[in-house]
Amino acid sequence: MPSLVVNEIFHSIQGESEHAGRPCVFIRLTWCNLRCTYCDTEYAFHEGTEMEIAEILDRVRQYRCPLVEVTGGEPLVQENATLLLRALCDEGHEVLLETGGSIDISPVDPRVKRVVDFKCPGSGMEMKNLWSNVTSLKKGDEVKFVVGSKSDFDWSIERIRQYGLMERCPVLFSPVFGVVEPVELARWILESGLSVRFQMQLHKYIWEPATRGV
Ligand code: SF4
Repeated sequence: MPSLVVNEIFHSIQGESEHAGRPCVFIRLTWCNLRCTYCDTEYAFHEGTEMEIAEILDRVRQYRCPLVEVTGGEPLVQENATLLLRALCDEGHEVLLETGGSIDISPVDPRVKRVVDFKCPGSGMEMKNLWSNVTSLKKGDEVKFVVGSKSDFDWSIERIRQYGLMERCPVLFSPVFGVVEPVELARWILESGLSVRFQMQLHKYIWEPATRGV
């Protein structure tokens, strides 16, 4: 039976993406190939328990929640992640995948809504972006930029224009928590004149910012 190393499974309010505010089951997979300067889930780099896909599906069923997100770490580091994503779709779930944009998303089941978090220079991981992922983006997917400064924001606007991202799917901007004030990012977005979407990590405002499993 195929298995994966799972860091945690929990039921919470979706804090990011176009689905923010909806109840969601999160499956956080262990390991990440990146090391972003602002990472808030470093505990997912190594901690985890091996679980068969059937066991994971059983756990998810207990929450009776239609929306499920597979996240990390970087979920696509584990090859069996694509099997899990397909199995969740087969179970009738609406499935989101949060991925860092450095691994090919084309093998992911087309029913999955991919949230591709391309890395800005301030993350220290810009060189890992796999821009060929842009050609795999489809309706229902999203691109996200987490910005830690005005120069990250300006860099993102250039990438939006260079890769025609607005024509492919919604583009979201999020401030690095505790580094960029939400009001600053709001101002930059308004000044840009672009119809991108502002978002904050909602769960960090509902619960204490460092709370795990929410
Ligand atoms: S991709 Fe996500 S989990 Fe990995 S280092 Fe960056 S912020 Fe952390």
